[in-house]
Amino acid sequence: MAQGSAKIRIAHAEPLGQGARLLRIERVDGAELGFAGGQYVIINTGVTLPGGKLAKRAYSLISSDAEQRAVEIAVKRIGAGPGSNVLNDIAVGAELEWSGPWGKLRLPPGFSGRALVVATDTGITAALGVARGAAAAGAAQLDLLWLVESDDYFVSEAFVRERLPPPVRLTVAGGFLPAGHPERPARACALVEDQLAAGPYDAVLCAGDGAVIYPLRDGPLRDGPLRDRLASLGAPEGSVLLESFFNNPLKKSV
Ligand SMILES: Cc1cc2nc3c(=O)[nH]c(=O)nc-3n(C[C@H](O)[C@H](O)[C@H](O)COP(=O)(O)OP(=O)(O)OC[C@H]3O[C@@H](n4cnc5c(N)ncnc54)[C@H](O)[C@@H]3O)c2cc1C
Repeated sequence: MAQGSAKIRIAHAEPLGQGARLLRIERVDGAELGFAGGQYVIINTGVTLPGGKLAKRAYSLISSDAEQRAVEIAVKRIGAGPGSNVLNDIAVGAELEWSGPWGKLRLPPGFSGRALVVATDTGITAALGVARGAAAAGAAQLDLLWLVESDDYFVSEAFVRERLPPPVRLTVAGGFLPAGHPERPARACALVEDQLAAGPYDAVLCAGDGAVIYPLRDGPLRDGPLRDRLASLGAPEGSVLLESFFNNPLKKSV
């Protein structure tokens, strides 16, 4: 199915701890989404922002891409943010517009090597999508490193483990510094350096805090054999595949 916009219905919702919600969503016309694990959709929350624009927000699909009609997202409530509050409060049965699927955070079709996925914070949703997509395609050995403040920050570790395909090795670096902390990038670089010792890896994908994942790309992931392997996957030379959920240095706002 081509990218485009469609009307969607909230088919099911359940709370995830105190400040997040799991939503199952279907297209109203019953069509398939045509997404690959790691991709996201943009939901028009219907809220008009003070400048007159509609609040449209991106959410990564956490369900396996083996199922293309009913898909799941997990949404953390961010302060008084318009998008995350609407999706945490919206009634089951309500209809919204979305567009997508979007995004290039995915292992190439046929990839059979060893991959490392680094997620910070809510970026675990994209990591779940990548891992489940890779498993559905029968691919790859995959290690997942999740940097997160605490087990009640968003989805729990148990939630992630229940959904991870068995060959994926999950390491949770709990007690990670909160978003905005000036030592976050340096701490993340040290943790990723430790993880790289468990390699070698043929691909690295990172999702979450842009203030962390860009320094990872320009730090521990920059040099060595990884660079050539990533270039052969079509990633810009010397870089890794990144999906910034917030603090995107390339944008003023999401
Ligand atoms: C590709 C992509 C995929 C995403 N997938 C998810 C997802 O699966 N689940 C999810 O909950 N969110 C996800 N997000 C974030 C989401 O799009 C919204 O930014 C978030 O829900 C806040 O929107 P809001 O309108 O409530 O608040 P806004 O008013 O838009 O946001 C307030 C501020 O908080 C920042 N922010 C967003 N998330 C965080 C965070 N975790 N920690 C600290 N600051 C943050 C925003 O960048 C903004 O500066 C994703 C973002 C992108 C770009």
